[in-house]
Amino acid sequence: MTYATKTGMSGWLETIQPKVYGNFINGEWTESSGGKTFSIYNSANNKMELASFQDSTEDDVNEAVEAAYKAFKSWSLVPGPDRGAILYRFADLLEKNVDELSFILSAEQGKTLGESKGEIFRAAKEARFCAGEAFRIEGNTLPGERNNVWSSTVRKPLGVIAAIAPWNFPVVTPVRKIAPALAYGCTVVYKPASVTPWTSARLMELLDEAGTPKGVVNLVVGSGSRVGNPLVNHPLVKGISFTGSTALGVQINEIAARRFAKTQLELGGKNPAVVLDYDDVRSVAKQIVGAAFACSGQRCTSISRVIVVKERKEELTEAIISEMKEIKVGAAWEEDVSMGPLVNQQHLKTVLEYLKIGQGEGARLRYGGDVLTNGLYADGAYMVPALLDLVTPEMRVAKEEIFGPVLAIIEVEEKEQAFSVANDVEYGLAASIFTNNLSTAYSFADQVESGMVHINHGTASAAHMPFGGVKQSGFGAFSIGSSNVDFFTEMKVVYFQY
Ligand code: NAP
Ligand code: MG
Repeated sequence: MTYATKTGMSGWLETIQPKVYGNFINGEWTESSGGKTFSIYNSANNKMELASFQDSTEDDVNEAVEAAYKAFKSWSLVPGPDRGAILYRFADLLEKNVDELSFILSAEQGKTLGESKGEIFRAAKEARFCAGEAFRIEGNTLPGERNNVWSSTVRKPLGVIAAIAPWNFPVVTPVRKIAPALAYGCTVVYKPASVTPWTSARLMELLDEAGTPKGVVNLVVGSGSRVGNPLVNHPLVKGISFTGSTALGVQINEIAARRFAKTQLELGGKNPAVVLDYDDVRSVAKQIVGAAFACSGQRCTSISRVIVVKERKEELTEAIISEMKEIKVGAAWEEDVSMGPLVNQQHLKTVLEYLKIGQGEGARLRYGGDVLTNGLYADGAYMVPALLDLVTPEMRVAKEEIFGPVLAIIEVEEKEQAFSVANDVEYGLAASIFTNNLSTAYSFADQVESGMVHINHGTASAAHMPFGGVKQSGFGAFSIGSSNVDFFTEMKVVYFQY
């Protein structure tokens, strides 16, 4: 593996002169009051420094929240269609800059260029949906109890929103929070994950270029404890849209509850694919493998458990293995690569630990799990996707989120057992079922404890459909789609007598 070949990304990497990015507060790029910065490194080659960012302080957070609070007074009065117009321009700019943005995204996060481009186009689509929502913030008008009285409901923007994102989708996750916030008339202070702040800095530049007034969107980079914590505790923050681990989601919800701040929490998953019958085993295996290993399995909606009836287990397992063998692990810029490295060595260690835990509990490593260490591969966290079979429902690998390229096969006797195993976890984000039987499909859709259900379909969501989870997978209004109105606005009831 060398940089000298292949796509434009290798040449681009060679031109990088690590630059220091500021925070983006009140429309200005500013240094942290603490004067400290930290560097980020190429996920595919951890010796290569990419850029530096502010290691911000509570004072920086306060400054950003105050800027957002001040901007809210005017921004919330801008007519919806005018707010939407900025988002349409922003969506166009995302697409116009897709090449450079995808290089940055792949460099900091590790995903393949195809995945990065897909993420950016998806972000543009979601921004356009939100731009349209700004035109249709609906209320109801009901007949009055008396003559000459109109009774209506209207939606008012909530106020300053804290947006906090993880590292797995550093473009679409912030856009999924910022675009609806702007559409509904809110302002934002955004904290990206510490390992992936670079795309966020570019997003600020593009939002600025699209004409977002100063103070409406602010970026403060830094750690969860020094930036995230004061941000969620700030009394002027009215809503917290958080995507990340369940443990942190619970903590944030407790803090928010004390001052009745609203929360929109998108948390972990342990998503099942139930397989009962099929005509074409290869197409089922393809859907499962695609949904399990996209973004190297680092998706909250990754399929991580295959729950299959005994008589299909061996045939399906073989088909899954042959699909997995098609996956080419490598650096984003290598040709034909279909799975990038994990985000960093520390995360790889956690994932490998789960492989050990699983085998210690009696599961069998049926395929993969090797770490690539040749040449430059030693400088990234490259792992061949792994398949565990002989997994039983009470094992830790069947219950806990691994957030990496590990798929567990759980064999069951029949449908009822499959459904109950599917539900026997703390999470409830996305679930798939593969069956030709219509009533089985619908009874699964009815009974599965999951925010999203996919019938004969991997766990891929759409840019206009509500997205979220139940149980320990989410709380508050679903994001994406029209459900965002319930988080980003509050209701007011108006009676009018004439
Ligand atoms: P994480 O550790 O929960 O971190 C998420 C974000 O919270 C990061 O920006 C982190 O900052 C910040 N943070 C850390 N401590 C904080 C605190 N005390 N107060 C406020 N913010 C704080 O999650 P992750 O490891 O980045 O991502 C993986 C997790 O995200 C998985 O559980 C995955 O399932 C979940 N996820 C869910 C969805 C969904 O839509 N349901 C989507 C993607 C990911 P630092 O980076 O500085 O630590
Ligand atoms: Mg973390």
